[in-house]
Amino acid sequence: MHAPIVRKRFGQHFLHDKQIIQRIVEMIAPQPGQHLVEIGPGQGALTVPILRKIGQLDVIEIDRDLIPPLKSRCADKGNLIVHEADALEFDFAELAEPDQPLRVIGNLPYNISTPLIFHLLHYAHDILDMHFMLQKEVVERLAAQPGTEDYGRLSIMMQYHCQVIPLFNVSPAAFYPPPQVESSVVRLIPYQEISHFARDYKHFSLLVREAFSHRRKTLRNSLKELIDDAEWKTIAVDSHLRPEQLRVEDYVNISNQLNPK
Ligand code: SAM
Repeated sequence: MHAPIVRKRFGQHFLHDKQIIQRIVEMIAPQPGQHLVEIGPGQGALTVPILRKIGQLDVIEIDRDLIPPLKSRCADKGNLIVHEADALEFDFAELAEPDQPLRVIGNLPYNISTPLIFHLLHYAHDILDMHFMLQKEVVERLAAQPGTEDYGRLSIMMQYHCQVIPLFNVSPAAFYPPPQVESSVVRLIPYQEISHFARDYKHFSLLVREAFSHRRKTLRNSLKELIDDAEWKTIAVDSHLRPEQLRVEDYVNISNQLNPK
């Protein structure tokens, strides 16, 4: 295959390491009859082997120039359903059926991976699992535990919805062109039932955002706009802690105590 034109603005780093590709496909373990959706198929490094295994695949690609060669590469491999679209605006609920949750996969464009993950969280109940190649640092943040430097808004919002399972690291040499950073593959499994349910999700989300907008401040200071002194007295969390010291359920509890209905 010819070296492709690479569009930096679309975060294009194409996988070419066959062993890594095989390992990712093994981790995904696609089965015929499952509904898989790939974000950013590019030249088809993952698309082709997956299509071969299960015979049908939805893909979402923003770069229209990549679509005709992808279609011809996949023509004899199965039913490829191409959505020429921006995954950040894509309505994943449109693809999901009640008895057929989606399995979402992708070697994601790193420049939009965080907003894309937040976008996908809206559809958590339509998704069975997700397998993504991400910047290693992003996977570390997704999986981070309270009290660590990596722990923040991304960790909390992801862990509220999903079990986070880091799988393995991938070196820049596996891609063309090689990215500047190490990568990691992660499995995200949305909980069927959320154990600590936020009664007002918007409020919970705002609370976490505000808390981490001033990471070095105590909760009492950073949440001044949302929680006054009288309210702190009714909340069973120490307001002198810093945001990274609270668990996901602590944020849920604070939000629920302020939204008692
Ligand atoms: N899956 C291929 C692989 O592993 O070689 C390509 C991965 S490359 C890191 C990211 C892919 O996502 C590219 O094909 C790029 O054009 C596409 N992409 C970038 N931004 C996108 C967006 N907002 N929506 C959908 N696809 C996007």
